[in-house]
Amino acid sequence: MCGIVGYLGKGNAQESLVDGLRRLEYRGYDSAGVAFHEGGEFSLSRETGRVENLANALRGSGSSSSLGIAHTRWATHGSVTVSNTHPHQSHDGKFVLVHNGVIENYGTLKRFLEGKGMSFASETDSEVLCNLIAYHYSELPEDEDRFIDAVRLALPKCRGAYGIAVLCLDYPDVMIGARRGSPLVVGLGEDANFIASDASAFVGRAKEAVFLNDGELAILDKGGFRITTLEGQDAQAVTHPLDQILEEVELGDFDSYMEKEIYEQPAALENTLRGRFGDDGTTAKLGGLEGHEDVLRDLDRIIFVACGTARHACMVGEYMIERLARVPVEVEHASEFRYRNSPKAGKSLVIAVSQSGETLDTLEAVREAKTKGLLTLGMTNVVGSSLARETDGGVYQRVGPEIGVASTKAFSSQVCLSAMLGLALGRMRDLSPMDGQAIVEALNGLPDLVSKVLQQGEQIRELAVKYSKAEHLLFLGRQSLYPVALEGALKLKEISYAHAEGYPAAELKHGPIALISPECPSVFVVEGNDLSSKTIANMQEVKARKGPVLAIAPENIEIPDQAADDVFRLPEAHEVIRPILANLPLQLFAYHFARLRGLDVDKPRNLAKSVTVE
Ligand code: GLU
Repeated sequence: MCGIVGYLGKGNAQESLVDGLRRLEYRGYDSAGVAFHEGGEFSLSRETGRVENLANALRGSGSSSSLGIAHTRWATHGSVTVSNTHPHQSHDGKFVLVHNGVIENYGTLKRFLEGKGMSFASETDSEVLCNLIAYHYSELPEDEDRFIDAVRLALPKCRGAYGIAVLCLDYPDVMIGARRGSPLVVGLGEDANFIASDASAFVGRAKEAVFLNDGELAILDKGGFRITTLEGQDAQAVTHPLDQILEEVELGDFDSYMEKEIYEQPAALENTLRGRFGDDGTTAKLGGLEGHEDVLRDLDRIIFVACGTARHACMVGEYMIERLARVPVEVEHASEFRYRNSPKAGKSLVIAVSQSGETLDTLEAVREAKTKGLLTLGMTNVVGSSLARETDGGVYQRVGPEIGVASTKAFSSQVCLSAMLGLALGRMRDLSPMDGQAIVEALNGLPDLVSKVLQQGEQIRELAVKYSKAEHLLFLGRQSLYPVALEGALKLKEISYAHAEGYPAAELKHGPIALISPECPSVFVVEGNDLSSKTIANMQEVKARKGPVLAIAPENIEIPDQAADDVFRLPEAHEVIRPILANLPLQLFAYHFARLRGLDVDKPRNLAKSVTVE
């Protein structure tokens, strides 16, 4: 789930490892630790709380080791304590291990190992895996492959997900990494090689990266590295250059990644759109759909599976695809789809959406869909991610690394791609060339309109100042702006910890109106069409009950004075891009609201960027 960095090289491991952990902080975590191979033993340092606590603790110790592993933990098994913090050391002191993920059968394995006389220092599943490796090691004869063989014997006994890095005392220049269900990547530098859960951990220190596949092992030693399967066969190592990643993850003049990512949306969306329209200018051309045209033309239904913000993007997609392509669409929480006995009605397509491409709930939903023989497409931002590899086709978001835990630019690009998908499917079915052309023009104009809205950032900051005392807020919208209301509420909850709920505007009177009071503001996202009069009536219902109202509305829609306390204006735009524009002020509202409360928007409490546990 959280962060792994391992260093094996000629220099000092400590600096690279602490720096690597800092670069992984964005993923969210609750404790951090490091282990060095030093003077014939392992030295461990572990702290709860921020990486800075660990860095301070290490400052005095000045390790000169050139082999070490480090971890940021996002607790799943056992509370946030020093003894549960990784690295874990085996009972005999021979192994140290860091682990991302969950070993589901750790209870059975632990009882087996206890039966062999082992005792445990933590409540974690990860320590069990460390001891399982130690157990197999103790059973093997001494030879040069003993360490690798012990890892190879232990891993198939584990059910669940893991990305690991492990060291053995008897092998002072070997580091082993392995993955199943949790990402792992090898970094290749001039003076050192790395293992990490995310390439951003070693940008600036490594030149190339090799992404591991599930079921693969990376073996690093002084001579270099090799990738093998768990069974021991050599596997192909494809290297990717890293220079570009470095540029993209620098913070520049912004005070947080979230702010940077909000403001880089015009450029990000340009990348999402670039080169993706047909020559006649009436349709979208998405490379990842090629070869599936026959199935796509004949679909009976689409099921989107996703979690969190990505699910809200899919809900916007539901409105757009049904409207443009006339295909019935359902949106499922990936975690629910996975265990639900969904009937296999007609020709269905499953589209799985995950920024990181590593969201375990979403991946498991894809695996379930494949078991049922359904065509699966992925929408993800991370090239080579598990989602990209496991689906039959798909589209990349191309917005560059998203570091802020609360998703912003990734949401906008997912909505944009859903509109493009609706357009492509519509043109394969009955959408006219004229309608297609109008949508292509609207999408091409999107980056400029996004810039225009973002230029009004100061007005949103002032509105956030006005409303930031509120502890409860409602977000309301209709049709494709209903998921935007949900997303506005989610963003605010995630980073400001204020309580916010999103509802379809008409649903207000079926319950939530009971909450309306002068202390509970309502944020309405207003449509740019005839439906707006209905939403304005809902705003008046709130005002009649003394609830403050902030309206986000297109310029062409008149908002009567008595319907809203404040109105933020959006440029007039085609309906396919309105949800993206309407969401921008909500991103900025949440951002300023949280900053005014002095909160760290990039590292909201309890949240992780890439959720690789169920
Ligand atoms: N399951 C492990 C634990 O609770 C690893 C969690 C993680 O991925 O950070 O310690």
